[in-house]
Amino acid sequence: MIVVRETPGSDADKGYTDMIPMVDLKTQYLSMKEEIDRGILEALEKCQFILGPNVSAFEEEAAAYLGAKNAVSVASGTDALHLALAASGIGKGDEVITTPFTFIATAEAIRYVGANPVFVDIDPYTFNIDPAKIEEAITPATKAVIPVHLFGQPADMDTIEKVCKRHGLLIIEDCAQSFGALAGKCMTGTIGSMGCFSFFPSKNLGCYGDGGMISTNCPELAARIRVLRNHGSEIRYHHSTIGYNSRLDEIQAVILRAKLKRITSFNEGRRRVAGLYTSLLENTGIACPYEDGKGTHVYHQYTVLTDKRDKIMQVLSSAGIASAIYYPIPLHRQEVFAEEYKSVTLPVSERVSSRCMSLPVFPEMTEEQVREVVGVIKEAL
Ligand SMILES: *Cc1c(COP(=O)(O)O)cnc(C)c1O
Repeated sequence: MIVVRETPGSDADKGYTDMIPMVDLKTQYLSMKEEIDRGILEALEKCQFILGPNVSAFEEEAAAYLGAKNAVSVASGTDALHLALAASGIGKGDEVITTPFTFIATAEAIRYVGANPVFVDIDPYTFNIDPAKIEEAITPATKAVIPVHLFGQPADMDTIEKVCKRHGLLIIEDCAQSFGALAGKCMTGTIGSMGCFSFFPSKNLGCYGDGGMISTNCPELAARIRVLRNHGSEIRYHHSTIGYNSRLDEIQAVILRAKLKRITSFNEGRRRVAGLYTSLLENTGIACPYEDGKGTHVYHQYTVLTDKRDKIMQVLSSAGIASAIYYPIPLHRQEVFAEEYKSVTLPVSERVSSRCMSLPVFPEMTEEQVREVVGVIKEAL
């Protein structure tokens, strides 16, 4: 039987039994246990649980790492997207262009503010939104574009910026999978007007629960998001707008501060594993991830294309090796959207969804483990 894990990283939460998991959070925790345990205990002693000192320190450190003027933490990546849209004043009747080949949260956030997602097909090689197809999707109702830096590879921001500038559209980057990825000279999350990050445990920078963040160079947007995340309040018990309860907690901030110090080496570890996979999978007929060279791919996922997906996943599973399909159904074909978008066909997304599969990739993965995965794949073929 093929075990398909629909939620990113859910395997990490359920307590996996695979010999080689998609991501090995336990090994990573043990490598920094002392620092994390000590930080958590100190935070418990301090009892400043909401918007405490570790949260503000993390925001400053994360902004500095990204080269953004501001970073505002929130309760999840989904909330980051939601509050970014809300802070932009996007709402009912507006259209937001995005990719159909992403996690549902990208489109959910658009719906939360009452706007309509307009799905634009992807590039067959990078799996990111195809910038050449954005322009024809623009209408007078279009307000923003949300490119997703899928699997850790930056979307083609140069071209997207040009199109958006020409049409006066806002860019909100979905950086849930791309913490630390460079797009050209800048980090993802500092190119559009806002960058939305997720700290879901399995993400490149992940905490031990839910967490998220918005980066922005615009002080007004940062200030608005700070108010929105805290019940529409700047001064306690004075409420200027209807806001939300969406804050990162102090314990998660401790964990994120420890991991942020190591994120460059974590991402290098992922790139090392990816490079090894790509060289070992040569001449197998499997299409390995394509790097467009415009940015640094940080390999949140190592996603390949193959016509023999079921067979490979079955053989991997019996060998105790995890694999997953990110994503099996493009958003315009999801039950929630299917009726409304039934006249929309996005052939590249549909074809990629039917052939893609992701292999284990995490910074601590050993060369031996990568060789084992590839060995089993070669057997399956
Ligand atoms: C994980 C993810 C999100 C949502 O983040 P959460 O922290 O789980 O709410 C949004 N977009 C993409 C592309 C993601 O991978």
